[in-house]
Formats: sequence, structure tokens, C-alpha cells
Amino acid sequence: MKVIVIGSGIAGLTAAAYLVREGHNVIIYEQFSELGGVTATIHQDGFSWDMGPLLLEGFAPHEKLGKILTELGLSEKIQLINDDRGQVLPDFQIWHPKEYEGPYWRREFFKKMFPFENEGLNQYYKFYDRMMSIMYIGNQLPFTKGLKAFILKLKLLLKFLRVKKYSNWSASQVMDFFFKEEKLKAVFLSILADLVVRPSQFFGLGIPSFNVETAFEKRIPIEFKGGKYPTYHFIRNGCEQLVKAFVDYITNNGGRIFPDSKIIKIIIKEGKAVAVQLEDETIEESDIIIASGGVLNTFYNLVGQDYLPKDFIENIENLSYMESVFFVNIGIDFDPSQYQRKPLCYYYGTYDIEGGIDNCLKGNYHEGKDGFLIYIPSMHSPEMAPKEKHAVTIYTIAPHELKNGNWSDKKEEFSERLLIETGQIKRKNLVKDY
Ligand SMILES: Cc1cc2nc3c(=O)[nH]c(=O)nc-3n(C[C@H](O)[C@H](O)[C@H](O)COP(=O)(O)OP(=O)(O)OC[C@H]3O[C@@H](n4cnc5c(N)ncnc54)[C@H](O)[C@@H]3O)c2cc1C
Repeated sequence: MKVIVIGSGIAGLTAAAYLVREGHNVIIYEQFSELGGVTATIHQDGFSWDMGPLLLEGFAPHEKLGKILTELGLSEKIQLINDDRGQVLPDFQIWHPKEYEGPYWRREFFKKMFPFENEGLNQYYKFYDRMMSIMYIGNQLPFTKGLKAFILKLKLLLKFLRVKKYSNWSASQVMDFFFKEEKLKAVFLSILADLVVRPSQFFGLGIPSFNVETAFEKRIPIEFKGGKYPTYHFIRNGCEQLVKAFVDYITNNGGRIFPDSKIIKIIIKEGKAVAVQLEDETIEESDIIIASGGVLNTFYNLVGQDYLPKDFIENIENLSYMESVFFVNIGIDFDPSQYQRKPLCYYYGTYDIEGGIDNCLKGNYHEGKDGFLIYIPSMHSPEMAPKEKHAVTIYTIAPHELKNGNWSDKKEEFSERLLIETGQIKRKNLVKDY
């Protein structure tokens, strides 16, 4: 069949790769000159910065991305760097110890800091272990069939019964149940800022999956009693290597990719998508059209409301959108490892995670005061910066729309402020106690 894919993000590329593998005639249209969507890497003056994902989950052979790469024979095309990250809170820092101290070193570290939370920590980590097994089984299910799938589902059910009591609790309730100390709760809740979801509105069972210990300690063996842990990797030389691997695969198998080609309309005939219209008015017919790049854009702008059932329109209108991220990419000419010992670290400026997220959801930008992350890809991939220099990304969550002012007018000023906040790290001399 002839298949048109709208968008060359990782979703469009993955769909296209599987379709060319099956022998279909595939064309990808991408509106921008850069391929890859959010997974593109941008370049300037010898520096490279990723636009989206940094430390990626899911590349090990037992995980979904790993399985896809193996199936397409692309595993050898990208170099993965297994790594972990640091977490810095207003008055303490969490970095893995120099010598490996086992999979639960963070639990023991927290016990030393908050001895009165001993029992809560033991209980939390039991809950964590159970959730890790549940996640592992859940992730294996789509790849299992027949009796094996039935047994897995049964296992899942039995394991779920052991955590069922938390299933209607919010993340805040789960934390309140295990811990008294707000600083300790913030350790586990702070990652929700990445999603800009209030802890009181996030599902409690999700907390372990957003605080997987392998994200803080790469030396933990993948296998454990109940399955295998999620893994975290950087992609050597940036996410564009992943994009390149997919693009080569697609074009080597007869697929065609057209950058600078914006689709302005999906043409519908008798209830079926039959063609696309490009900006230059060209019409290209197709048996199948696969659109990526956003529900609202696809259905409202490209298809049009006239072709959509009423309840479907309501569903789209009721979707809630995520807030945004504000990126500052810079090049530096000094060694950053004296201030940040690993390529990635999250810095939090407050323990009030609920309040900070609430503020963002109300359209107030914190200007970096509530926290940010610093990613230095050239620490793991020196090719991403000129010799003896480093590429640095600083980003933080931000409201999609500002309550006061707009992003175009304010972005320069906000960049400066974020850089000033980042500069505080130098003063605190964070590395000295390693
Ligand atoms: C800062 C950040 C950090 C992230 N971190 C992680 C992470 O750690 N782990 C993780 O799993 N995910 C992460 N994500 C999410 C992940 O990157 C995205 O979910 C994923 O890359 C989206 O891929 P996509 O193909 O669906 O969409 P996109 O990458 O948005 O691709 C859609 C493409 O379609 C094109 N397009 C749209 N409309 C048209 C049109 N009309 N005509 C032609 N082309 C069109 C767009 O230009 C774009 O290239 C992160 C995202 C961000 C922004």
C-alpha cells in the first residue's frame, strides 16, 4: 500500500520504519528542514544541544525501545551510554557514592539524614519493590501471547492486590502515609514538576515509577527477584543519532522523506482519509495516512470539525495540555565537572512541590527560583562541543502562556535570570564533599 506519514518525529519515523520493513510504499512529509521533531539535535558554532529527551528510559533489550531497535536491526547504529543523575535539594544533595553501596544506598542515605523515618523508609522501599515487579510484568504483557500471557496476567493481579490499598490515593497521600518529613517527601515528589502535575492530583502508584533507583545509580544490576529494572541511557552525540538511524533505515528500504513540506489538509472522501494537500497546493493521494504531531492540529486544522463525530470533538476539547519548558542553551569555555560531577543534575529551589507546580499552572513563571536542570552532553560526548569547551542546556518548567506578558518579549530577560540562578551553583561549590 501507499502510506503517507505526516511528521518525522520519533513516532512518525517508527511507524514508517515498520511499514517499509513490510514492503509498503512510504512517504514522510516534515514541515521543518530539520528531521526528528522533539528528538532533533540543534547545532551552532561547533556546539550541539538536544531539543528534548536527555537521559532516556527504555533502551535495554527487555524494554520497549530496545525491542524496537533489535527488531529493526538498529541496535548497533547508536551508541548508548548507561548513566544516572544527581538531585540537589535546597540543603542537601544526592549523588551516588564513589564505591558502589548496593541497590538501596539511597534508602540508607535517607535513614542517616532522617533517622526518625527509618520505618517509613523500609515500608516505602517494600512498596517500591512491588511496584517495580508490577511495572516489569506490565511492560512484558504486550509481547506475550497465549498461556504465557494468561500466567503473566494472573501474576500481575496477585501482585496488584498487595498494593491495591494505594490505588485510589494521590501521590501526596502516599508520601504522607510513609513519611513525616517534608524534605523527604520532596525527594520523591519533585519529579512531578517535570510533568507539571500537582502531587495531590497525581496517582500515588506512579511515584516509584518516576523514582526508579537505577536513574540515580547506574551500577545496580538490571535483574532483581521480581524482574528487570528500567534502564537509563544518554545517546552518544545526541538524539539525532537515533533519528539518523531511522532515516537511513527508511530510505535504504525504499521510503522517501521530504523536509520543508508542510501538510495543510487531509482530504476526506466518503468518511475516509484519501489524500493530503501540501502548502504549494500539490495533492498527493494515499491508501493510508498516518498523522503525528498533535491531536488538535491533526483533527481540527488538517481534517476539520465537519468530518468528526460530536463526542469525538468533545473528547478533544476536554484534553488537558501539558505546560511548557523554557530552554537556555549555551557554550562554555571552562570545565563544568568542578561544579557538577555528572552530565545531568536536577536542582530544586523549594520543598513546596505542590505550591511551585500550582503557581506554574496559574501562569506564573518562577524564573528559575523553584528549580531547573543542567545537562552537559559534551561531558559524555566531547564531539558535541569544540575542544576544551562544553555544550550546556539549562531548562525548567514554565507556563505555556504567561499570566503577565508574553514569551517573545520576555525570553531574553528570562534567559539572563535563569543563568543567574545557575551561577549560584558555582558559589555553593557543590563538588567539594565528593
Ligand atoms: C524537554 C523534553 C524532555 C523530554 N524528555 C523525555 C524523556 O526523557 N523520555 C521520553 O520518553 N520522552 C521525553 N520527552 C517526550 C518525547 O520527546 C516526545 O514524546 C516525543 O519525542 C514525541 O515524538 P512525536 O513523534 O510524537 O512528536 P514530535 O517530535 O513533535 O514530532 C512531530 C513532527 O510532526 C511534524 N509536523 C506536525 N504537523 C505537521 C504538518 N502539518 N506537516 C508536516 N509536518 C508536521 C513536526 O514538525 C514534528 O517534526 C521529552 C520532551 C521534551 C519536550
